[in-house]
Amino acid sequence: MLQPASRPAAPRIIGTSAATATYSTRASPSLVPRAALRAAQPHLAGPSLRRGLATVARSDAFANLTSADVEAFAKILPSPSQILTTIAPESGSASYQPVDPSELDTFNNDWMNKYHGRSQLVLKPKTTSEVSEIMKYCHAKNIAVVPQGGNTGLVGGGVPVFDEVVVQLGGLNKIRSFDEVAGTLVCDAGCILESLDNHIGEKGYMMPLDLGAKGSCHIGGNVATNAGGLRFLRYGSLHGTVLGLEVVLPDGTVMDTLSTLRKDNTGFDLKQLFIGSEGTIGLITGVAIATPRRPSAVNVAVFALDSYDAVQTVFGQVKKHCGEILSAFEFFDQTSFDVVQKHATAGVRDPFEARHPFYVLIETSGSNKDHDDEKLQLLLEHLMEEGMIQDGVLAQDETQLQGLWALRESIPEAAGKMGKVFKYDLSMPIDKMYALVQDMRTRFDEHGVHGEGNDVGAVCGYGHIGDGNLHINIVAKSYDPKIESIIEPYIYEWTSNVKGSVSAEHGLGLMKATKIGYTKTPESIEYMKKIKNVFDPKGILNPYKYIQKITTCAAAHRRYHHLLFTQRLRHQIIGRAAAHFRKDQAWSYKTCGMSTWVSPSMSRFNRSGTSSHSEPDSSERSAFAPEYEPVQLGSSSVLKPLTPPSVSNLTPSTCLAIGEFKELLRQYRQLDDGITTRLNRSFARSRALGQSSSPSLLSSSTNSASSVDLGTSTYATPQPAACAAFWRELVDVWIGREEVVRFCIKVADQTSNPNPAVGSTDQRLDADFVPTSSKQDRWSRAENTAETLNRQLHNELKVESIIRARSLDAFKSRCRFFTPSPPAGPEGDRERAMWLGIPTPAARASQQGAPLP
Ligand SMILES: Cc1cc2nc3c(=O)[nH]c(=O)nc-3n(C[C@H](O)[C@H](O)[C@H](O)COP(=O)(O)OP(=O)(O)OC[C@H]3O[C@@H](n4cnc5c(N)ncnc54)[C@H](O)[C@@H]3O)c2cc1C
Repeated sequence: MLQPASRPAAPRIIGTSAATATYSTRASPSLVPRAALRAAQPHLAGPSLRRGLATVARSDAFANLTSADVEAFAKILPSPSQILTTIAPESGSASYQPVDPSELDTFNNDWMNKYHGRSQLVLKPKTTSEVSEIMKYCHAKNIAVVPQGGNTGLVGGGVPVFDEVVVQLGGLNKIRSFDEVAGTLVCDAGCILESLDNHIGEKGYMMPLDLGAKGSCHIGGNVATNAGGLRFLRYGSLHGTVLGLEVVLPDGTVMDTLSTLRKDNTGFDLKQLFIGSEGTIGLITGVAIATPRRPSAVNVAVFALDSYDAVQTVFGQVKKHCGEILSAFEFFDQTSFDVVQKHATAGVRDPFEARHPFYVLIETSGSNKDHDDEKLQLLLEHLMEEGMIQDGVLAQDETQLQGLWALRESIPEAAGKMGKVFKYDLSMPIDKMYALVQDMRTRFDEHGVHGEGNDVGAVCGYGHIGDGNLHINIVAKSYDPKIESIIEPYIYEWTSNVKGSVSAEHGLGLMKATKIGYTKTPESIEYMKKIKNVFDPKGILNPYKYIQKITTCAAAHRRYHHLLFTQRLRHQIIGRAAAHFRKDQAWSYKTCGMSTWVSPSMSRFNRSGTSSHSEPDSSERSAFAPEYEPVQLGSSSVLKPLTPPSVSNLTPSTCLAIGEFKELLRQYRQLDDGITTRLNRSFARSRALGQSSSPSLLSSSTNSASSVDLGTSTYATPQPAACAAFWRELVDVWIGREEVVRFCIKVADQTSNPNPAVGSTDQRLDADFVPTSSKQDRWSRAENTAETLNRQLHNELKVESIIRARSLDAFKSRCRFFTPSPPAGPEGDRERAMWLGIPTPAARASQQGAPLP
């Protein structure tokens, strides 16, 4: 028994020495509840649906499948078992037989049973040339396709959203070659990860990645998602270990980069583009990968700790003492541990006598058993002596090793058995990781939805500490948008604020298709879209997910207003803006419903002789189609309000020409002016999408026959997510307006009281604003005196509060169950004041005549 040198409460270490187990593959937990999936019926879809928690509209750029299409596929795929379809053949045709719809359930529903497609056709090619022929046909006919591997993805990327054809790659399952000297494996993309690991294990090698889903996921799916997993700490990313790929492009071209060279500096490394591309630019059919030697000595230990600080300290110590043999450093909290104990498959045993706030699992892998034993022994003694760990167990044999790993690996499965899981997979600095888990719990507490038997039963925090990768699994009773609105966008903003990534390893898929901006810059996103366009100009591959190849409605709106405002404010002729904007606008009219609210402004374009209402010509359509974007109610294309330009677009001369200034504010106030219409439209849309709830059903105290209910029954109450999005837009517009007024007040103040220091302030605000004498002369000839201007501008802040009060009333009367959660700090204070209908700090300062902040 290992004894601590001077600690009364000795950590308990099972075993007499750091015994070593021979490595063998751990059994993968049973993964896919296929029976449950089969029982679930896919939704019948209308033109626009909620899939999981994301709302998207089907693009009519894609063809609807016919029996003639299935007949064509039947000519490409020789065996009837390679086609599963519910489309009935033409009478008299016997080239294929339709199947019962339930046979497609496995392919239409994801592992979590959260995302549901309604594909009518699953194709199961067995060779690269069959995949190529399928894609040639789909490309020619504009048929949308979703590539599917083992369907273990956790972000809805591998299942159809609507009726996309599923190309399931499990039939490509051959090992092409294995070089036992170099350790390079070349195989088909549909090989199951665990099978590959077993195969090369017999030759003394192992796969450089390992995950809980290894018994079902494919190596092609792993590459497509750039899967991380449990060996990442030691062997790094697939960007380093994948040596080459064979890929079928959306038009059927086979791109062969299946090299096994470790070094090759000839031009761009194109294969890297496909690693992590989530099936959006090509179907991976072959993989060449470098595999490491299988270690002959593996140790696994689990320690119990009393704080997250201790987790970090122990990580430092483990790296110091065993850095070169460390192969995993995982952590999980008490909630995760409890969920596993209660819900995991039988066989997961609690090896501890008491409960502890945190647990870490460390694995060492080496080739010299005595060396590793000695190192681990020293480490354990040190950790105990220093009181860094409270308890610990060390695996003595293979069974114990598997048992300890099961404590960590069973968390996702156990959470899934407990309820519906909102999964977040985030990268961030290690010292910040657990604060987010605690914040999420506090947030649920504040909303009164947290605790056993409540809407949110558990918030589990666990992950790969060594990789700075946190998993938060929020176990709820159902995938309720109300719960989602408490989590998002808060969790993404939090992550972005600490410069983290909203997807460490699961990818974007459908779940995070619109969230990439929290991590990547607009420039990066733009270039990703350009790359998508290069490979998939028709946008047929895995649509609605990841990076859309087109300008989204939201972006089109933003760009339109940005151009409109900047061009106008800089006194340039609208024609230039129109020329820039014509394509977007023509596309947006049809797709984004812009005509309903943009038309007044668009008439200005007509004056320049440009037809703003023209349908896009065919070249424009091919550049922009397919036309869709994930739509969030309240911030959707239909309802999108004007996006205020940043203050940097505003020049002092605009402030000083009061007519122009007022016109600018009028534009900004369009959302407030039309707020009732917009809310009504939002509610009508909400009702159409089935996302709204009747107030009388939500609130037991509200009698459906009451006058209150009668007054609102035409428009159901939108879900909190819709209200949150609408509120965000209101606040953005209000803030934008207030900043314009503040900026102009500063300009007016400085103009009426010029002094030498002012110039430098203004230069900071706007590089154009240099109060040279000629400029001052020009201003002095302006139609408004500085005093009048000053008064009018200060008045605008009062007008602001009146307009806001009216809009706030309208909003609150509809979004009766919504309360915003402003962040801490000045921005949050401003938003809080807006919600309470009281003057913001800036307005207060102005009323009191104090200098503006
Ligand atoms: C219990 C459990 C534990 C997990 N643990 C981890 C973990 O530790 N680390 C981790 O990173 N992930 C983990 N995952 C997530 C998942 O297993 C990985 O994302 C995995 O790589 C997906 O592989 P797949 O074959 O199942 O792909 P699918 O789920 O079928 O597809 C995933 C994405 O890849 C695309 N795709 C699939 N095959 C191809 C192909 N051949 N060519 C082009 N595109 C393709 C799909 O279109 C989709 O966008 C876990 C999942 C589960 C259920």
